[in-house]
Amino acid sequence: MARVAVVTGGTRGIGHAISVALKDAGYKVAANYAGNDEAAAKFKAETGIPVYKWNVASFAECKEGLATVAAELGAIDVVVNNAGITRDATLHKMSAEQWGAVIDTDLTSAFNMCRSVIEGMRERAYGRIVNIASINGQKGQMGQANYSAAKAGLIGFTRALAQEGASKGITVNVIAPGYINTEMVAAVPQPVLDKIIATIPVGRLGKAEEIARAVVFLAAEDAGFITGSTLTINGGQYIAA
Ligand code: NDP
Repeated sequence: MARVAVVTGGTRGIGHAISVALKDAGYKVAANYAGNDEAAAKFKAETGIPVYKWNVASFAECKEGLATVAAELGAIDVVVNNAGITRDATLHKMSAEQWGAVIDTDLTSAFNMCRSVIEGMRERAYGRIVNIASINGQKGQMGQANYSAAKAGLIGFTRALAQEGASKGITVNVIAPGYINTEMVAAVPQPVLDKIIATIPVGRLGKAEEIARAVVFLAAEDAGFITGSTLTINGGQYIAA
């Protein structure tokens, strides 16, 4: 029977590519999104993948949304915590709202999602959790103290949960993408983008599909010995230990 995978922020950008790659690999996929109904409807029409609207920053909404997915598609085997936002500002100009929105959406969301599925995964002795962090959580980025903190937190969260899940057949890994050609990066002004590309040894932005193929790899049944890993996919821009 096909395994069930939930991808947060699964209708656009990197998440779109992850949802499609998991479907192509044989999973029953649920693509979550926040509020862009138009993009979600287009995604659903093009891919045939069902979409589920809830805010990953809300524990109650995650719990309810995941219960709906489980009722409609079956018990959840794979969670990809991909949804994320940026609210950039240097710290001396950053508001508490900018800080809170990013921490809640990019970090607390992983707690909200994993807490809601972990007991079921433990009972069934199987689970695959893949978190999407960022190069900027590894190296820090000026103007992104909130985002860097959230993404670094996601790496620590991954390492802790990997230890807790290991004896129960649950693997937990994190991917740290570099700059990927999505709307999030399109928002960066071109002169800034040109400077960024000049620091990427591969000489270009990454593609969403290049992240998606790694998610499929980590989500696979035969990836059971890979847990607690941080997979860096950044064209050589930052080579972490
Ligand atoms: P996009 O902005 O293209 O897409 C974001 C997706 O997340 C959308 O589907 C959006 O839903 C959803 N989303 C946002 N907030 C919420 C929320 N509160 N609840 C549920 N869903 C939400 O992002 P990217 O594809 O560029 O980024 C995906 C992930 O990869 C993020 O975690 C990002 O931090 C990370 N990343 C991206 C990099 C890049 O270069 N693009 C580099 C490194 C990491 P909706 O359509 O409804 O708004």
